[in-house]
Amino acid sequence: MNIKELHKKYLNKELTVEAYIKSVFENIKTNNYHAYISLNEEAALDKAKKLDEKLKDVKELSPLFGVPVAIKDNILTKGLKTTAGSKSLSNYVPIYNADLIEKLNLSDYILIGKTNMDEFAMGSSSETSYYETTINPYDPSLTPGGSSGGSAAAVAADEAIVSLGTDTGGSSRNPADFCHIVGFAPSYGAISRYGVISMSNSLDRVGIMAKKVSDVKILFDQIRGKSENDFTSLDLENTSENKDNKKIRLAKFNLRDEYKVDPDILKSFNESIEKLEAEFGQMETVDVDYLEYINSAYTVIMSIEVEANMARIDGLRYGESVSEYENTDDFYIQNRTENFGEEVKRRLALGNFFASKDNDQIYYKKAMQVRNLVKKQIDELLNEYDLILSPTTTLKAKKVGETSQDANASFDSGLFNTITNLSNLPAISIPMKDDQIGSLQIIGKRNDDLRLLDIAEEIEGLL
Ligand code: GLN
Repeated sequence: MNIKELHKKYLNKELTVEAYIKSVFENIKTNNYHAYISLNEEAALDKAKKLDEKLKDVKELSPLFGVPVAIKDNILTKGLKTTAGSKSLSNYVPIYNADLIEKLNLSDYILIGKTNMDEFAMGSSSETSYYETTINPYDPSLTPGGSSGGSAAAVAADEAIVSLGTDTGGSSRNPADFCHIVGFAPSYGAISRYGVISMSNSLDRVGIMAKKVSDVKILFDQIRGKSENDFTSLDLENTSENKDNKKIRLAKFNLRDEYKVDPDILKSFNESIEKLEAEFGQMETVDVDYLEYINSAYTVIMSIEVEANMARIDGLRYGESVSEYENTDDFYIQNRTENFGEEVKRRLALGNFFASKDNDQIYYKKAMQVRNLVKKQIDELLNEYDLILSPTTTLKAKKVGETSQDANASFDSGLFNTITNLSNLPAISIPMKDDQIGSLQIIGKRNDDLRLLDIAEEIEGLL
């Protein structure tokens, strides 16, 4: 069900908000997909009752009226536990709301709960969570992708209509793809990061997931915009007016052999391109140099920023701490040894290695050179074309446990995702077909998200 259909039911009195929200919680409990780490049941049902009162006197509903929303557990919610999928924050209850939660609180939405995720958003399968691994509702033998796997599974299993994730290197688009829903990673800064636990601050953005692009738009409109607490946040301009979608210029990435795109994904991608060409005309194939180095550049920049951002989770300022220790060093070492999982430790080690004095700027400088070169080339392409298309992931979802011994697995399929984070560009992932593997990623111009969403809605209808 999408928001429009839900609102119709509310207005026709086919459904009360309370009955619907109750059914959402029942669904969560019977499914047992572990999409959520904590539920907000009492407050949600209270709000539902209040909305039912309101419903008596209104003819038109506010855009998020009575809409169940799931929030990734690295977004701070005042009074509601926020763990970031980590043992270290297993009892952390924030004393303030993320900016986007304040914006949501101005609407009539209903917060269902906080969703499962890879620990501190590091991973692409939700298996690095300290909590139970989320099950993919589309195929229970597979992981739901990650790191925002809980948010994607919640929407796919009707445990929420829309959800929020985060996206540092694909973490909203990857699980959206694997759970067959829509995932949107806006331009850097379009949604304030204030109160969103940082993983890699020059790459992080808040992502939105839903079954339909129209629902993504509704949630985005509520939470985007400048926040005085985040100087990297910005207001987007609406450039969609008076633009003819028929005249858009589309290009597609050259899927070179070395990118190792799964043959089934390649097949779906080519079929989707054919459908779009029938509507928009022949598409040019474009190439970006150094793309094969993009994941290495991402790994270096991300790990160095992770290492700096995670310094605050020391057991003193935030998080669980041990009660017996020999001295200050021992206190920090024990807290972090006890309360971080393997993936987090690996990235801290990597970040320290890349940024250490001996390595000086060797790795970081090279990675930034690659970042700038790729960004420059994509910008040039986006002067020529309005949108660039690629598959969302290059590989299919993996079986649960399949990659537990492979430290590189979380980066393997995200090539076309990380380029947009490194270039600060917006991108949206749309399932290519209901019954088929793979999603189409559409990359738009920087800060032209509203136009991207408009065209994505049209493309969604054509696939
Ligand atoms: N797969 C990427 C990683 O593990 C994505 C992380 C993210 O976007 N939060 O780093």
